[in-house]
Amino acid sequence: MPTVFDKIISGELPATIVHRDARVTAFLDIKPAAPVHILIVPNKAIATVNDIADADAALIGHMIIVARDLARQQKIAEDGYRLIINCNAHGGQEVYHLHLHLLGGRPLGPMVTRT
Ligand code: 5GP
Repeated sequence: MPTVFDKIISGELPATIVHRDARVTAFLDIKPAAPVHILIVPNKAIATVNDIADADAALIGHMIIVARDLARQQKIAEDGYRLIINCNAHGGQEVYHLHLHLLGGRPLGPMVTRT
């Protein structure tokens, strides 16, 4: 079953795309959790971090390079930002197509709530 992100990558669903190349697509999160909230998504379907193959190492590195460049473009690089990948239920993953969250534009607080 194609996910919503497959449909955004193919153009079937609209999104505000901020970067696209042969390997990844980046677009604004529909429900932003910070002033800057961009999702960097591999064009090929990888469901979770658990499904990343060793051969995907360069692709995963490219996702981080794209995040770095987008942080500069969004002018949040100096103040700082957070990169997050959620995995499966305990990680809070909602969409089962690998994606890197780029969050910034305000102090983001603690990484997780301590219980
Ligand atoms: P996850 O919880 O899987 O790490 O994050 C999924 C993210 O995708 C959420 O932040 C959610 O707001 C975003 N999202 C879900 N559906 C859509 C959509 O149709 N379009 C866009 N642009 N973002 C979406």
